Amino acid sequence: MDYPFFHVSHYINGQFIDRGPRFDIYYPATNYVIGSAPEAGAEEVDAAVQAAVRAFGQWSRMSSAERRVLLKRFAQLIRDHEDELAAIETWDVGRPIAENKAGYIARIAANIEFFADFAVTHGSEAYPMDNGYINYVLRQPVGVAALITPWNIPMLQATWKMGPALAFGNTVVLKPAELTPIGTWRLAQLAHAAGIPPGVINVIHGFGPDSAGALLTKHPDVKLISFTGETTTGTIIMAAVAPTLKRVSFELGGKGANIIFADVDLERAVSISLRSSFFNQGEFCLAGPRILVQRPVYEAFLSHFRQAAAQLKIGNPFDPDVRVGALISREHFTRVSNYIDLAGTDGASIILGGTPPVLPEPFAQGNFLQPTIIIDVKPHDRVCQEEIFGPVVTVAPFDDEEEAVAIANGVSYGLSAVVQTRDVGRAVRLGSALEAGTIWVNDFFVRDLRVPFGGMKQSGIGREGGHYSLEFYTEVKTICLSNQ
Ligand code: ADP
Repeated sequence: MDYPFFHVSHYINGQFIDRGPRFDIYYPATNYVIGSAPEAGAEEVDAAVQAAVRAFGQWSRMSSAERRVLLKRFAQLIRDHEDELAAIETWDVGRPIAENKAGYIARIAANIEFFADFAVTHGSEAYPMDNGYINYVLRQPVGVAALITPWNIPMLQATWKMGPALAFGNTVVLKPAELTPIGTWRLAQLAHAAGIPPGVINVIHGFGPDSAGALLTKHPDVKLISFTGETTTGTIIMAAVAPTLKRVSFELGGKGANIIFADVDLERAVSISLRSSFFNQGEFCLAGPRILVQRPVYEAFLSHFRQAAAQLKIGNPFDPDVRVGALISREHFTRVSNYIDLAGTDGASIILGGTPPVLPEPFAQGNFLQPTIIIDVKPHDRVCQEEIFGPVVTVAPFDDEEEAVAIANGVSYGLSAVVQTRDVGRAVRLGSALEAGTIWVNDFFVRDLRVPFGGMKQSGIGREGGHYSLEFYTEVKTICLSNQ
């Protein structure tokens, strides 16, 4: 097998800079070193923030139509490099290449294009008063936005945050997760080639606590923080930004329910459930790892689902037939495996998987775990409450709508849910009753970029998407205009 080597660098003030101690980047499917990246310290973080502060003057004063030209050029370069970026995401994450090809890179470009257009077409409110005065609302860019992203869908996260931040006139310092820095660094190269001015986008690498991430959150010249990651990290960042009163948008963990009613077409329910369970090896905050099935079809669903999950090909992520890739790291593999051990001690039964597959070298060295199905669980079991973030699902029966809603809502998270039923009235009732920021009815992972995206409860603070992103990434002013 031919391995690439990615010599990743920071991107500060329009320059690719190699400064700071370097750390290795591992390919999750074999644990071979495929590159290295520098760790930013206080000096590099400050240089990136200051570059963004300087660039803000010019970028924020450009018209949104001028910014759109540059952002569209950037997005077009993403589209032009689809195959290369799909491969990079697989090297970074260990996700099957098949999942990166199915519209994934196009969506990364669309995140930029959508907000570039939105900024041009969006107006603001005006309120003519009875006395002839006019109140109008002005939205202006805020300043430097720190964008902190996780390792599971790195390029999608990077553009989902960069798109609106830049389109509405802010400048950014982006810190990708230390486990997956390659894709974001490559995006910086494409932005550079597109002619985005120096300092508008800065990318720094490093870790979270006591490193680039924490330094960024404390920097006084950073005005906004858009963070996606673990709930515990969100609480740490919230405390860190309190002294400088930064505005935050947090998308945190999830533990979605996938509720299947007896009236569904079982084949389709199985197909949706395979995706909501095992997309990205289940390393996905939007996943639906708590499968709840109405009792009359419980046994039939379980048998079909088990059979279908057992047939998912696992192994070499570059094999186009592979559907389950490798977990991100050895450490994460151990964490996920510990949950499986816990299920055994809680009296639950593992009816599929639970162990690594037998794979040839070099994949025997990777962090692969077979799709795992756990049954005989109780709603309060830890495997049903805590985010496992791997290809591990629980399946449990329920009797009626009320019970399904109670179980689904009985967790601290509230990011997403899947409801499968042909009964429209029931879908409407569950849409209202479920505590989740996004609820899919009869499908999974489809979303118009205009709708709000984010989580309730411990799954986040705020929403992004469409005008919700506009609200987060702009400062709003009311101007009262006298007619005298
Ligand atoms: P995940 O395990 O999904 O990567 P984390 O919450 O650990 O979730 O990390 C998400 C992102 O947040 C990463 O880029 C990580 O480096 C960063 N991060 C982790 N801890 C902190 C922190 N204390 N301050 C700022 N950023 C952090």
